[in-house]
Amino acid sequence: MSMPKPANQLFEVELVCENLSRDTVVFKMPAWMPGLYQVRNYADHVTNFGVKDGNGQAVRWEKAGRSGWRVFSQRAKRITLQYSVKATMSFVAANFLDDTHGYIAPTGLFMHADGILQHPVTVTLKPAPQWNRVATGLDSVAGKKYTYTAPDFDVLYDSPILLGNLEELPAFTVHGVPHRFIGYKLGSFDRKVFMEELKRSITLAADLIGDIPYKHYTFIAIGPGRGGIEHLNSTAVSFDGNELNNPEGRERMLSFLSHEYFHHYNVKRIRPVELGPFNYERENRTNLLWVSEGFTSYYEYIMLRRSGLITREAFLAAFQRTIASYENNAGHLYQSLVQASYNTWDGNPFERPDVSKTVSYYDKGTAMGLLLDLGIRQASGNKQSLDDVMRYLYRHYYQDLKRGFTDAEFQQACEAAAGTPLKELFEYVYTTKPVDYARYLAYAGLAIDTTVRDGKASFAITPIATPDAQQLAILKNWLGDNTRQQ
Ligand SMILES: [Zn+2]
Repeated sequence: MSMPKPANQLFEVELVCENLSRDTVVFKMPAWMPGLYQVRNYADHVTNFGVKDGNGQAVRWEKAGRSGWRVFSQRAKRITLQYSVKATMSFVAANFLDDTHGYIAPTGLFMHADGILQHPVTVTLKPAPQWNRVATGLDSVAGKKYTYTAPDFDVLYDSPILLGNLEELPAFTVHGVPHRFIGYKLGSFDRKVFMEELKRSITLAADLIGDIPYKHYTFIAIGPGRGGIEHLNSTAVSFDGNELNNPEGRERMLSFLSHEYFHHYNVKRIRPVELGPFNYERENRTNLLWVSEGFTSYYEYIMLRRSGLITREAFLAAFQRTIASYENNAGHLYQSLVQASYNTWDGNPFERPDVSKTVSYYDKGTAMGLLLDLGIRQASGNKQSLDDVMRYLYRHYYQDLKRGFTDAEFQQACEAAAGTPLKELFEYVYTTKPVDYARYLAYAGLAIDTTVRDGKASFAITPIATPDAQQLAILKNWLGDNTRQQ
């Protein structure tokens, strides 16, 4: 993969296949990128397509649908595909290239031979000569500059690549495993404090699940903007370090990075059965994005609070905002959480959805994380929590069964932790029934007050004056106050 004229915004790709031994081979470009639940038809950005055999002779080909190219390879021992990819959009799920840097969304750049996803692949990059670094979660090939391998195309498609004059912050380790932060235009901020704070949040998450499943992890910061996408051992994020210089920006940035990090557990490994192995040709619908996205949003605040990066007040305020966002949109009377998850593929990620007809599975999913956590703690006499459910899902489905879980299996895991059916809580998932926040917050000795002004509700979550022993114990465990200093 090369970029001889970066200003032209074209990546040049050469794909060499040997010993395919078929009369025809269809090469395919994925239609979407896992993590962004939208069909993006990446093949539309391919131009200058051509094929040669081992002797340099042109090989006949034809289009095979919107995302495929049928190559009449006639059992040639070696064929080479050549094509260009237009790279004009700076976004974590799109390809971008100019004089300053390049970003590769791998599902939009690399083709695979149809039916041969489970095959090792080697990638050699030729960055523009004036550039100094490449950031990716892919493993390097020893002794070969800018050469990387993946055991199969699923891993390649899960490994974005940033190239340019990049800055690498001093790496840190968590239980001996290196974590890197590399990016373009990182901005002006205290790098040492930032990396220390990021490490605290990540260490909390790794200890909460109890396992680090990768050999190295890379934060890939593509520059200022909006959006992030999680991957197996990396995340591509829009990042502007200048935001870290004010308290709100710091909390927003740390919670955003914690969110993307926690996803390598929740959605990449702790996952709905529909989200893997992926079908790259069409939408992969699931009812459970409220768990994959909503609980990841819930745990981003757990990470920040229990690692001492935000105060108890800031922690509770995050849920106040989430509940207000959900309750103030009329869509909560219209659409259930599972419908929001299933239908997400029908929307446009760059347009605000009609909030009178839809709910956000981020907002209500976060609230469900909170309610389920407190509900399980109360029902089990403060012996189990949502953390135990997450650990169980990780061990049982990801590590042991090596698959995702169904809707019913997810509910069973929650009810097993609680030791009792959780009928009302799952009605909030499958219906538009009004949510009784006060009941669940009371389990941790918390009250919720509602104020309505100009038709908009706001919420205040505060500790009650005289909690009993169990309420106090649940609150302390939930906040992590017994494991760290105030
Ligand atoms: Zn997310």
